[in-house]
Amino acid sequence: MENGGIVAGKTVYLETMGCQMNVLDSELVLGQLRTLGYQPTEDAANADVALINTCSVRDHAEQKALSHMGALKKPKARRPDMVVGVIGCMAERDPDGILRNMPHVDFLCGPGELNKIPAMIDEVLDTRAQLVALSENKSRRSSLLSRALEHDSVEALDLSRAAGLPGRVLQAYVRIQRGCDKFCSFCVVPFTRGAERCRPPAQIVDETKLLADRGAKEVTLLGQTVNSYAYPDNGRRIGLADLLERVNAVEGLERIRFVTSYPGDFPDDVLAAMRDLPKVCEYLHIPVQSGSDAVLARMNRRYTVGQYVELLGRAREIVPGITLASDFIVGFCGETDAEFGASYELVERMRFKHIFCFKYSPRPMTVADKRSPDDVPQEVKRERNVTLLKLQERISREQNQSLIGQTVEVLVEGYSKAAVKARAAVHDCERPVGWRRPDQLVGRTRTDRIVVFSGGERHIGTLRSVHVQSATALTLFGELIEEGTGNEARISPPVAGPSTDRTR
Ligand code: SF4
Repeated sequence: MENGGIVAGKTVYLETMGCQMNVLDSELVLGQLRTLGYQPTEDAANADVALINTCSVRDHAEQKALSHMGALKKPKARRPDMVVGVIGCMAERDPDGILRNMPHVDFLCGPGELNKIPAMIDEVLDTRAQLVALSENKSRRSSLLSRALEHDSVEALDLSRAAGLPGRVLQAYVRIQRGCDKFCSFCVVPFTRGAERCRPPAQIVDETKLLADRGAKEVTLLGQTVNSYAYPDNGRRIGLADLLERVNAVEGLERIRFVTSYPGDFPDDVLAAMRDLPKVCEYLHIPVQSGSDAVLARMNRRYTVGQYVELLGRAREIVPGITLASDFIVGFCGETDAEFGASYELVERMRFKHIFCFKYSPRPMTVADKRSPDDVPQEVKRERNVTLLKLQERISREQNQSLIGQTVEVLVEGYSKAAVKARAAVHDCERPVGWRRPDQLVGRTRTDRIVVFSGGERHIGTLRSVHVQSATALTLFGELIEEGTGNEARISPPVAGPSTDRTR
């Protein structure tokens, strides 16, 4: 690199797929590259460095990643100096397959090795060698190994990124844990992200303070199974509840969330923390995956449906007003109509705020893939997926409509997607159909409901009250209440615009 590691006028394109963990990893990678002088660009074909941050959780995500990689073949042939990197879970899971099928890829980097990316780019430019940095025993073909930083030094990047973020930060992810030890039979995460490692609480709090200093009002603590967070501290075990208490004390922060929770060992002290700590939001995402004990056993989930139901009952009892969300897999190996019916009944009974529902797809390396046939036909999986989502849509709509007439507190996140598009449009014909309100804002309640209303720039980043006037399954529409006037003057007419729900 020029100027002692600083590059000038170079651009980096980064495509992110998959979960919040990947979103955070991408932010981290961009932060590193930005401090070295790279400018982010949306133009993959003309970028100096093009990176794909991949996800291996489902076959569909891998196919999409392959298609993104393939799209870089021509630009790379046209501009051989371009550096193409594939990072994340797929790089870790199938390095040989990627290198065999995508010879234009310059380097592969697993999720635990992201700190090496700047040096890898440097080395590719110097040597034009194809490089691979994976978890220790898989790394090869790179002199970077001799420069390998100590295990999990990526954590230090987590910390430094808070200072390197551009502009004001409103919401941020903070990693508290990496990897997973649960080995659910369908899941590739323990193979791609390794064993569970928890970050020191002091580092998490320091990062949160830096983010709050940069304007963050909300942080989401991230891990694969956050409720198993544990860190030794002077002979004492710091668990998630203790950590929440420490993060709650960070000044300037308004809200704290945490994902994802595992139902098997969820302690009551975390529920008590949700009740007692004012910044911890009353929202729990806790994937069950199936409503059938037999399927849960085949999935190697270490709890029963009864234990799950009992836990959710306790959560509702201890944390007033809590909303609950879950994940389901349909069409897992051998899933019968009756077993799927049990999932349907569970959704009906638990009245989640929302669910994510996935059609099972076998992942290489997993126990399910090795030992159980993927024997539920695609069409049946599709039908079950649609059936479950339809049921949940009705429940979500009913829940949201029950809030009509109420006033909810929202953290105003910014302009809605449609408003951003409308504001960017030069001609009326480019605006979204039916669009009339370029001042449409979007915010979120503590219970994770999306709220859309009219407002202005000054509202963004603040907590506001919104009077709910209508609702769909995904979105509440309302009217902002201007506070502090002594008279609660309403500042905008009712909003009727396109839904602006965002995927999480
Ligand atoms: S708990 Fe199970 S599903 Fe979740 S990351 Fe770990 S192995 Fe995968």
